[in-house]
Amino acid sequence: IYGADRLNSRGINLNINSQYQPLIDEMATHMDTTYDVRPQLAFDVKVNAERRQAVTCPFDRRDTLGHVQWTSAEEASKAIDAAWAAFPRWEQTPVEERAAILERFGDLMETHTAELMTLCSREGGKLLTDGIAEIREAVDFCRYYANRARADFAEPTELQGPTGEHNQILLGGKGVFACISPWNFPVAIFCGQMVAAAVTGNTVVAKPAEQTSLVAHRVVELLREAGMPHDVVQLLPGDGPTVGSVLSSDPRITGVCFTGSTQTAQIINRSLAARENAPLPTLIAETGGLNAMIVDSTALPEQVVNDVVQSAFQSAGQRCSALRVLYVQEDVAERVIGLLKGAMDELKIGDPRDLGTDVGPVIDEEARAGLLKHIEEYRSQGRVIAEAAVDKTITEHGTFVAPVALRIDGIDSLESEQFGPVLHIATWKGGEVDKVIDTINGLGYGLTFGVHSRNESFANAVAQKIRVGNVYVNRNIIGAVVGVQPFGGQGFSGTGPKAGGPHYLHRFATEKTRTVNT
Ligand code: NAP
Repeated sequence: IYGADRLNSRGINLNINSQYQPLIDEMATHMDTTYDVRPQLAFDVKVNAERRQAVTCPFDRRDTLGHVQWTSAEEASKAIDAAWAAFPRWEQTPVEERAAILERFGDLMETHTAELMTLCSREGGKLLTDGIAEIREAVDFCRYYANRARADFAEPTELQGPTGEHNQILLGGKGVFACISPWNFPVAIFCGQMVAAAVTGNTVVAKPAEQTSLVAHRVVELLREAGMPHDVVQLLPGDGPTVGSVLSSDPRITGVCFTGSTQTAQIINRSLAARENAPLPTLIAETGGLNAMIVDSTALPEQVVNDVVQSAFQSAGQRCSALRVLYVQEDVAERVIGLLKGAMDELKIGDPRDLGTDVGPVIDEEARAGLLKHIEEYRSQGRVIAEAAVDKTITEHGTFVAPVALRIDGIDSLESEQFGPVLHIATWKGGEVDKVIDTINGLGYGLTFGVHSRNESFANAVAQKIRVGNVYVNRNIIGAVVGVQPFGGQGFSGTGPKAGGPHYLHRFATEKTRTVNT
């Protein structure tokens, strides 16, 4: 389909590769850029060779993109001083002014798409298609939250009341928010947290994941170019225990907006709770999942396999929403697994800059080692159902894991989320679907879930009983769109509110009721 240029009736080129070509050409101009960056704080940061970390590329560790100087504990503390000093001024800044900065920031990211995509690819190992979606989502967050802030925060909400009394609710900032983000959406999630906290009147100290500090640095440069004051959003690159834990244990932090693993969220929760003389904090945590899909015998096998491959292996399975366990009804299991094996044989694993690549690298050696250990355990029990082929020459210099499908008896046999291209498959017998749903619900995670069936009442009943944040019927279970599929889980998968949804900003705000006797 995509081999030759195809034009539609209006002369628009339908060849996907050709559409990407201008971006690819522009990305080439950034491929050899090297970076040497420091924390972006409200004050000058001195050069410190001991805290300077080299950043290498996940698909070719010989490529050193640059260096990032990590933030010291003292600098983190001084950054919180500056954020507190800036808070009253920023909170009084008109909502319109704050929203306009977000929009200019979104525009700037759009103009710098190729440069940011190059960083996502070289630093985070992202495929071109993933990179495009990533920047798109970040821009969407800026525009969506700017609009929501205008609608909900600019004017007080009028309330009904008795004659002779005027009642209103006013929304304001809470104080200083620590925004702590993961490496797997180094632009979108990183931006979404920061702009939500800032547009609602809070000042922000942001700690990106250590693996993706360079792209975070470039993003904050653009945010400053858009007009964000240096003391309102500060960037504190560094590792979790040094910087993240300093933030979550400081009594002046009013809220933490965290996205990452459930384990780290629990550490942060405990650290916030252990603070003495600190106001009760707000914790917004979006965490991991053990996401499942139930397929019944009426489902269309080809569609199932297409959606399973996307859900489990796109972005090398490094999405919190990714499919971890496929439950297929026994009667159709052989057919579905047969097609899946064929599809997995076709997957091309390799350089994420190549448009023909389906699966890029995993983020680092530690991630690869953990995934391979899990796969080997299953291999030793004869449970490998299918495995994609990976060329040994690329694994020499990059951290690749071949997509694999493993047989399990049930989701409850999994101890934890495997954050990579590892799909588990279980079967179920007709009449047992309620047992399967109870097992999935019983785990206590609740992020994404899929059901494939052409029996509408079956699909509706399953979707209704499952306790998750995002349920998808007859489609893949990844790629939630801002404002369209607000995203976030429940239980071990997160506190809510949903990112990219109408209630998200309210969690960053204080509410003040004003009653005037007229
Ligand atoms: P992670 O290891 O939990 O790290 C997330 C962030 O927390 C990083 O910036 C990390 O810093 C920091 N951190 C580590 N220890 C800390 C501590 N003691 N105190 C404060 N901060 C600390 O997660 P990850 O490996 O980056 O990301 C993958 C996980 O995120 C998966 O479980 C995935 O499911 C989840 N995720 C969830 C969503 C969602 O919306 N629900 C979205 C994306 C990802 P370092 O970089 O230094 O470790």
